[in-house]
Amino acid sequence: GATIGILGGGQLGRMLSVAAARLGFQTHIFEPGANPPAGEVARHVTTASYDDAEALKTFAEQVDVITYEFENIPTSALDILEAHRPIRPGREALRVSQDRLTEKQFLQSLGLKTAPFAAIDTLDELEEAVATIGAPAILKTRRFGYDGKGQARIKSSEDIAQAFADMAGAPSILEGFVDFSHEVSVIAARGLTGDVACYDPGENVHRDGILHTTTVPAKLSAGQRMDAVLLAARILNELQYVGVMGVELFVTSQGLIVNEIAPRVHNSGHWTQNGCAVDQFEQHIRAVVGWPLGDGQRHNDVVMENLIGDDINHVPQILRESNNALHLYGKNDVKPGRKMGHVNRIQKSAS
Ligand code: ATP
Ligand code: MG
Ligand code: MG
Repeated sequence: GATIGILGGGQLGRMLSVAAARLGFQTHIFEPGANPPAGEVARHVTTASYDDAEALKTFAEQVDVITYEFENIPTSALDILEAHRPIRPGREALRVSQDRLTEKQFLQSLGLKTAPFAAIDTLDELEEAVATIGAPAILKTRRFGYDGKGQARIKSSEDIAQAFADMAGAPSILEGFVDFSHEVSVIAARGLTGDVACYDPGENVHRDGILHTTTVPAKLSAGQRMDAVLLAARILNELQYVGVMGVELFVTSQGLIVNEIAPRVHNSGHWTQNGCAVDQFEQHIRAVVGWPLGDGQRHNDVVMENLIGDDINHVPQILRESNNALHLYGKNDVKPGRKMGHVNRIQKSAS
């Protein structure tokens, strides 16, 4: 069978490798860190830095198509890889989503709603932006933020100096605080021939800035559900996207507001492993190799719960209860905030 190259060897790369193996493909992981979670299930692992042009070229030549589990791949590495093999999802999706400013501008260009925002490079700009946008607001680094890292809340103008200092000089973006009732996400996929399939939106609850649970079905009216799926499809079509994307949304009385997009399989889509015949990982593999997409129909209600840090101690209890599907990532050292695994609690048959 063909070999799929995956940039990044974390749990997403691991679950992509499992799905690929089930479809008869081999995977080859490229990962700078030692002993990546994906390494145990992939056929090949290259341990090298994204600065290592020779290693990147060799990796590319050994695979048939390249995909990734995280969006912060350096442009210089992408240039080398793309000279040898197709990268799916493509460069435009990465360019747009690597930077929160570019991302918001792109979303607004599609006529989609975002939080009010302003680019921030100096303390003066921040003071001006807080005056215009108002407090509460959130200052975020434009690049490299995840799990709520690289963010500072501004409750009043007294917090401005500290928030600016927290960014440590990194280019940032100020976002007005969205008064949402809850958060949902759409996991959407687009195939090589342009067909789009979306999973039922899930409702997300965060704990300490990290996703804690995703529940399907989400609390949404039929109209909101349709809006969510249609706006996700517009984003994928505009980018001529190939693969799975996570689209995070705020539900407000003024409609759906797009928080951010992730050009990859997404933590809030893990429920699909036990709620659908074709889960997000298989869907992504199908898309990047040019196979037809599965329809993603949901056959069960599911509550996905992340096992973060010491939550790993809940495993014995999870194993004793029925209707729990446990997924562990094979990580040995437990650290606060570290995603160790997740459990999909199957609720009942969807009618
Ligand atoms: P992820 O791990 O999802 O990539 P992240 O670090 O990129 O997270 P965001 O998704 O930008 O961070 O923000 C994390 C959470 O903080 C959001 O899910 C939401 O609960 C809250 N949040 C972020 N931006 C806003 C906003 N403008 N208004 C209100 N709440 C917000
Ligand atoms: Mg994010
Ligand atoms: Mg987010």
